[in-house]
Amino acid sequence: MITWFCPECFAEVDAGAERCPACGAPTDADDRTYEEKLMRALHHHLSDRRLLAARILGAIRSRGAVPELAEAAADRTDPYVAAEAARSLALIQPDHPLVRRLREDGPMLTRAAVCEVTSCPDDTRSTS
Ligand SMILES: [Zn+2]
Repeated sequence: MITWFCPECFAEVDAGAERCPACGAPTDADDRTYEEKLMRALHHHLSDRRLLAARILGAIRSRGAVPELAEAAADRTDPYVAAEAARSLALIQPDHPLVRRLREDGPMLTRAAVCEVTSCPDDTRSTS
């Protein structure tokens, strides 16, 4: 089952809730779709928000987010966000050129994340 989060404060909300119980923001305040809001959150100034957005986009298999996730996965400034974006990208589109490249010679964290959800040649994935 998918957990939904407030697009403004990222508190957990019930799937059918019209307002966030934490900050009161409407969950459908404007014309942006939930996916668009998550894609916007990939650029949030707090890295845990970017991380969460990347994770949720993968969980809901957002095909529309593939370009944004690819951009985030290739960004070396935050290795944790990059790894999360790479994992989600691999979940949504395992044959994406960037996924293939990261699987072969991506940074350690990113490669490990990709290998968790796709099979890697010299399989180093953990058994967790
Ligand atoms: Zn909220």
